[in-house]
Amino acid sequence: MNKEFVHLTAWEQAHLVRTGQISASELLAAVLEHAAETNKNTHAFVTFCEKEAKEKACETDRKLSAGEEAGPLAGVPYTAKDVFCTRNIRTTGGSRILSGWLPPYNAAAVERMEKAGAILFGKTNCDEFAMGGTGENSAWQPVPCNPYDFERTTGGSSSGSAAAVASGAGAISLGTDTGGSIREPAAFCGVVGLKPTYGRVSRWGVLAFASSMDTVGPITRSVKDAALAMNALSGFDHRDNVTAKVPVPDYAEELKRGVCGMRIGISPDLLQLTIMNEKGDFDNVPIDPEITAALEQTAALLEKAGAEIITDVPMTNTKYSVPAYFVISRIEAYSNLQRYDGLKYGRPSSQQAQDMYDLFAKSREEGFGHEVKLRILSGLFLSQKEFYEKYYRRAQRARALIRSDYDRVFDPKGEYRLDVLLTPSTPVPAFRFDRKDCDPLLIRYADQFTSPMNFAGTPGISFPAGFTASGLPIGIQAAGYDYCEDKILRAAYAVEQLMKDSRGAV
Ligand code: GLN
Repeated sequence: MNKEFVHLTAWEQAHLVRTGQISASELLAAVLEHAAETNKNTHAFVTFCEKEAKEKACETDRKLSAGEEAGPLAGVPYTAKDVFCTRNIRTTGGSRILSGWLPPYNAAAVERMEKAGAILFGKTNCDEFAMGGTGENSAWQPVPCNPYDFERTTGGSSSGSAAAVASGAGAISLGTDTGGSIREPAAFCGVVGLKPTYGRVSRWGVLAFASSMDTVGPITRSVKDAALAMNALSGFDHRDNVTAKVPVPDYAEELKRGVCGMRIGISPDLLQLTIMNEKGDFDNVPIDPEITAALEQTAALLEKAGAEIITDVPMTNTKYSVPAYFVISRIEAYSNLQRYDGLKYGRPSSQQAQDMYDLFAKSREEGFGHEVKLRILSGLFLSQKEFYEKYYRRAQRARALIRSDYDRVFDPKGEYRLDVLLTPSTPVPAFRFDRKDCDPLLIRYADQFTSPMNFAGTPGISFPAGFTASGLPIGIQAAGYDYCEDKILRAAYAVEQLMKDSRGAV
């Protein structure tokens, strides 16, 4: 029933509900049915909250028929990555240690979506505690599959979110991005994914991974939907004290301003991978040529729309990002995950424990998966006092250098004066689960173009920019300066308008 509605964008769905062409309950029923169907192949979901969603849809219909204000996203069904706490709805973070946990509260982002009228109907699968880039680290199998080819990964860690949105199972999904986890799966699945400025969206009620980089943002099928979701999500929240009292523009209104006169940069440093070899020298490794070609085409479209393209922008320090991310993210993860001991947080082991420490050990042994254990142990090792200079201090210095690249190229009085920096989102398109079609080095450095923005704290949006010859989606990233989500949205929107096939796959 009403199949045609499920692939519409969020703003189209909101319009139909607001104008009474479809009720929120009918739309929800259609989306739930479609999600259950597509989930058989995509495995995007870990939980459906049908009952709660239906109640909210009824309430929305009541409000609308009574002429009450129901919010700009009234009746739009959406999903959230399973790291967002949802009141009385199972929240696992892709981990056994939280299996069966029912949070007593909603994450701030979920509260805000609810206030805008959107209706949560499911929780999406992800890498355990958002640690990964394919979804394969989730405790919950089978892991999400790419809607364009079920033999391929969705990217990660917001894997189920991207797969759900791409397949028409909800027009918006909330994701998190610490090193690329919104933008990479968006690129692999042919949808839009926006990582906001650090401090733009509250992370209160989101399971923490690496707190100095964790961000919350939307995955959508259109740029305008990302703008609408950002309208709902952005702003100060006293419960997340990195959020700032920076005014929130109407991002959807801003889209109309176009890109005429914008200075858009391309950096040769972000058109290849620069990888340190065993001798400590850097090697340049080319990325997939179809992605480079898509970037050039995107730049040509933006130029046609009136932007000025600057092609020699130096981002020389971004090559330190992947190794520095390794160090900093592990140390922060080690610190954040200490709380899961089976006593204060997390499911206690069912085995007989001799004492408190034995209970901690057994609960962690049973509750955490391989990758999470590995990262906790690496974090423990890297944060030892005797290694402080060698690893942590160096990584922090690299982080400061990366930030200085952004300060230089976006400086309004500087040489480059960029509004937007255009980069590939990923070095390769979605690869196969068996890894047979792709150089493992390119997979290991998959975060090269996304993690620098997490270090700098600046925003980035991955948007669809065509397909490879074999039909896989290609994502290009528009990156901006602090709190300039409006500009990157405008760039992505301009490209979307000029390209035909910007919609989801299935
Ligand atoms: N792929 C990266 C990692 O495994 C990024 C994850 C993320 O952004 N949450 O850490």
